[in-house]
Amino acid sequence: MSFPTAKQNEPMSRWTTLRAGGPAEWFLVVRSADEFANALIGAFDQGIDAIPVGWGSNMLVSDLGLSGLTILNLACQIVFGTEGEVIVDTGIGFQNLFIACAQRNLGGLEFAVGIPGTLGGALVSNAGAYRSNVSEFIEELEVVDHGERKWVKPEFMGFRYRDSILRQETRLPISVLRVKMRLPTKPGKDIYDEARDYQRQRISKQPASASAGSYFKNVYDRELAEQLPQLRGDLKAAGVVPAGVLIEAVGLKGARFRGGMLGARHANFLLNVGGANATDLRHLTEFAQKRVRDAFDVELEPEVLFLGDWSQFESVESIDLE
Ligand SMILES: Cc1cc2nc3c(=O)[nH]c(=O)nc-3n(C[C@H](O)[C@H](O)[C@H](O)COP(=O)(O)OP(=O)(O)OC[C@H]3O[C@@H](n4cnc5c(N)ncnc54)[C@H](O)[C@@H]3O)c2cc1C
Repeated sequence: MSFPTAKQNEPMSRWTTLRAGGPAEWFLVVRSADEFANALIGAFDQGIDAIPVGWGSNMLVSDLGLSGLTILNLACQIVFGTEGEVIVDTGIGFQNLFIACAQRNLGGLEFAVGIPGTLGGALVSNAGAYRSNVSEFIEELEVVDHGERKWVKPEFMGFRYRDSILRQETRLPISVLRVKMRLPTKPGKDIYDEARDYQRQRISKQPASASAGSYFKNVYDRELAEQLPQLRGDLKAAGVVPAGVLIEAVGLKGARFRGGMLGARHANFLLNVGGANATDLRHLTEFAQKRVRDAFDVELEPEVLFLGDWSQFESVESIDLE
């Protein structure tokens, strides 16, 4: 391994918002797109698995940790062009990007307020809120794809609802270094008013404990939506069933297992309220999936990504809730 500044055995519980997960075998911090690219290409040439991470707000790392080279991407340069063009490093905080753009009367990213991750992490899951997604604004992406640095069009990413090709179970050796975005011009006051409104809605819903945000994806199923009398009319009309509604319907709102908990205010938040390890959190995940499957014949799909070596993880039929 020829990365002299990489640390060995860095606990990932320090770098993930769920505060769980074993060590990264090698852990390297990069602060520019060039440093990031060089590390990725170097690792690829040496046959070492490289795992890019941002703020760790959308991942559950196994207790056995991450093998190979984990690269914490803190590259955050922004270059503003003409007509709403923005070229930006993917290590920038998504909200910081929103603020920098808003200061230049560039809107569109109001929904990013309150999403505690990097632009890179946002691209991988096509992060979004309030009917907007990050992919709407992307014109080109600079990637390292199997050791080759190049610019690609958004189609390369296969963006869908909270999904892209970078979420595949067998991880592809592809990382995003920079993106070229185009944002609409808007009066600053309108941008800040909209963002403030979203922020208020978030504060009323989001728990303060360690979490990874909404844990399961919403379910798109018209038939199921029709069957649920408690569902709001607009959701019923759109055939959208929030995962939290299903978890609440099976009686798991506020359920606790070891230090893990399903939110008492919003059931689709998996919380680490004190000392849960990744295995505990995954057992609670599977338990919620099983209860929802048994009751509604629907598979809840995690929005959070499971990273690392889960080969020793054993599913259990049931867990003893506290
Ligand atoms: C309180 C809270 C609220 C949230 N609200 C929302 C919300 O409203 N909407 C929403 O969509 N999400 C939400 N999230 C989830 C999360 O914040 C976003 O998905 C965020 O964009 C992830 O960014 P990150 O830097 O933390 O990614 P990480 O968790 O660090 O990484 C996620 C995945 O992306 C990969 N990755 C990271 N950077 C790169 C890169 N440069 N190139 C290739 N792969 C990369 C990692 O390997 C990993 O597989 C929320 C999370 C929390 C804790």
